[in-house]
Amino acid sequence: MTFFCPVCWKEIKGIDTICLFCGADISAYEKKDFEEKLINALRHTEREAVQRAVYILGRRKSIKAVQPLVKLFKQTNNTLLKIGILNALNETGVPEAREFIVKVIDSDVGITKRMAKEIINRESINHAE
Ligand SMILES: [Zn+2]
Repeated sequence: MTFFCPVCWKEIKGIDTICLFCGADISAYEKKDFEEKLINALRHTEREAVQRAVYILGRRKSIKAVQPLVKLFKQTNNTLLKIGILNALNETGVPEAREFIVKVIDSDVGITKRMAKEIINRESINHAE
């Protein structure tokens, strides 16, 4: 199982009690609040921390994160972050998230539009198997 530091969101080992990257005392954090903390991290001022939170929320298929992710997508001009959000939304498997990706294909331009298309296509190929 993969663990992430609740402060800097870098990948750490489950047995670590101190984060090797930022020195945070991991043992002090309750695991039950993990999802809530990740969602809060979407408002982090450090871009890398936001990217990681988006990625982890996707991997955890966080349904609670769908609305905050959509909101963040609308607020940001960062293409890399937008693509990360689309991937995370897709991973949640929530119909509402998928509808949003379809909407992005219609409303966005350039690489974001292209990635949204690719994500939707990739998904339908998986379903056909
Ligand atoms: Zn850390």
